[in-house]
Amino acid sequence: MQTVLITGANRGLGLEFCRQYLQSGWRVIATCRQPAAAKALNDLARHHRDLQVYNLDVADFSQIDALSGSLAELDLDVLLNNAGVYSDVSENGFGRLDYPAWSEAFWVNSMAPVKLAEAFLPQIKRGRKKLIVSVSSLMGSITDNTSGGSLQYRSSKAGLNAAMKSLAIDLRRQDIAVLILHPGWVRTDMGGKNALIDVDESVAGMRRCIDEFTLAQSGSFLKYDGTPLPW
Ligand code: NDP
Repeated sequence: MQTVLITGANRGLGLEFCRQYLQSGWRVIATCRQPAAAKALNDLARHHRDLQVYNLDVADFSQIDALSGSLAELDLDVLLNNAGVYSDVSENGFGRLDYPAWSEAFWVNSMAPVKLAEAFLPQIKRGRKKLIVSVSSLMGSITDNTSGGSLQYRSSKAGLNAAMKSLAIDLRRQDIAVLILHPGWVRTDMGGKNALIDVDESVAGMRRCIDEFTLAQSGSFLKYDGTPLPW
């Protein structure tokens, strides 16, 4: 049985990752900020013995260390950094930028995935698949940016991409691979109703990328359908 740890697992893409991995017979360590209020996740846990739910605010690095400590014996196949925030709002565009919100975007979107990789490295080393996956965004691509705006989100996802690319190079000698994914524009709270695809299609595609990913491809930035994306 393979094991995946998923952040931001209570709704949106994170919740769908939990559903699909459980259906495929994986053990799922689902983390979220408020487990007691995570109704859909708790409903899933009632039907799946292989789902364990843990409290984790990824912006609180002492919580990450504590969780790694309490899961010290885990053999982790895939660390799935999914939690993310989009804090750009039209009232806070250039000229009225909300710097505390920008700082939070960096903590959650750029630094927390790296901190999770650091904290769970021993468990990942013992896993068979040895894979760190970060759900990024095409909006983190500097090449693709033709419409401007969203300074907080774009820069925090570009920062995530840069950090994950370095980790891919640094961890390769330990046989650990790093995959950076763009889920598509997906109908979730973040993506909104006008988005192009549903969570099941996005997650099925990302899971296929994860399943087929090899160490030789480490450091790739892929769309959910496997298409390579520009930095
Ligand atoms: P949602 O807004 O639906 O869900 C975001 C998830 O992240 C929630 O579970 C939320 O928890 C969690 N989260 C936010 N901050 C924290 C934190 N500090 N600690 C722990 N969990 C946190 O977004 P999506 O499901 O759409 O997005 C998932 C990922 O996909 C994100 O990284 C996003 O940037 C990325 N993405 C999404 C796209 C889309 O079109 N939907 C497009 C491109 C990228 P809580 O309920 O507690 O707030």
